[in-house]
Amino acid sequence: MATNNRQILLVETPKGKLSPEHFKMQEAPLPVANDGELLLRVKIISLDAANRAWMQGATYREAVGAGTVMAGGAVAEVVESKAPGFAPGDLVFADTGWQAYVALPARKCIKVPKVEPLTHLISVYGVAGLTAYFGLLHVGQPKAGETVVVSAAAGSVGSIVGQIAKIKGCRVVGIAGGKDKCDWLVRHLGFDAAVDYKAGPVYKALKEAAPDGIDVYFDNVGGDIFEACLPLMRQNGRIACCGAISAYDGAPPTAGPRGVPGLIVVKRLTVKGFIVTDFYPERDKAIADLSAWVAAGKLKVEEDVLDGLENTPKALIGLLAGENRGKRMVRVS
Ligand code: NDP
Repeated sequence: MATNNRQILLVETPKGKLSPEHFKMQEAPLPVANDGELLLRVKIISLDAANRAWMQGATYREAVGAGTVMAGGAVAEVVESKAPGFAPGDLVFADTGWQAYVALPARKCIKVPKVEPLTHLISVYGVAGLTAYFGLLHVGQPKAGETVVVSAAAGSVGSIVGQIAKIKGCRVVGIAGGKDKCDWLVRHLGFDAAVDYKAGPVYKALKEAAPDGIDVYFDNVGGDIFEACLPLMRQNGRIACCGAISAYDGAPPTAGPRGVPGLIVVKRLTVKGFIVTDFYPERDKAIADLSAWVAAGKLKVEEDVLDGLENTPKALIGLLAGENRGKRMVRVS
């Protein structure tokens, strides 16, 4: 075991776009586990668009304040256990923060199985896969033959949403940035069509890609893309509000999406936000379904793995800029 801890601090709350100067690496003494706690060695940190939103204020969790260790979920190994039910060598998922070691109360740690490859605990069997599964199936409730549209479609949640929708017999349109990502969605992941939101007006391209309208819109980005989808929603359509990436990284506030209340009424839409943890009591069933689809080759798992704790800030900055395909994560040990 190392003699010192390594931690990445958020030194300043960003006012505009996130940049490397907002972080610094520091050494600290190794933490000590007290009664009821686990000493954890962090193995793989999940990079999430929401990491950026947490810096701006309280969301479904408290804000990450300047001068504190950057928050983040990770798979970690138990080094020492002072809590019943956990032993050295066990793997857990927890909000460890961006650091090499941490001591946490055992009640804040979820024991996870040792799967191969371990990275799947962060991608398809982690928050990304579960968010896609519950958000699409429980909130969006797609039926075979319906049209599902998903934004940030080449990202970790979006790439899984689109594939699950295909498994359920839907027509799937992804919205992503750039021709390469759009080609990849169609050729590699089997989406029916993809719209490059950086190439021109989304509404026009989406109308061509979804000529019968949209039954389910899985919204990862909010803003202009939400606004473009709304008039194309079919009567009784569902919008699963998962996140609002377009607003996370210092974008100036916009007036949009405009026209929302009227269209929701006339089209009898259901617009529902959700947080993945709401559905955790049903996690085992979700993981069983996801594993079966992966084993049958119906669900492809795309992972984007960087190495080294020191690379975590640039991994997040790059994710917000659209560098990633599938689930981005950083291997720490
Ligand atoms: P992703 O892996 O999807 O990566 C983010 C992607 O967003 C980038 O690759 C980029 O791709 C795209 N993007 C960046 N800026 C914009 C923009 N202005 N407009 C459109 N697309 C943009 O990240 P995550 O999986 O971490 O997050 C996906 C969404 O899921 C987020 O909204 C997140 O908050 C949400 N989420 C919600 C949860 C919940 O419980 N509700 C749980 C987990 C995640 P491109 O090249 O296409 O621009």
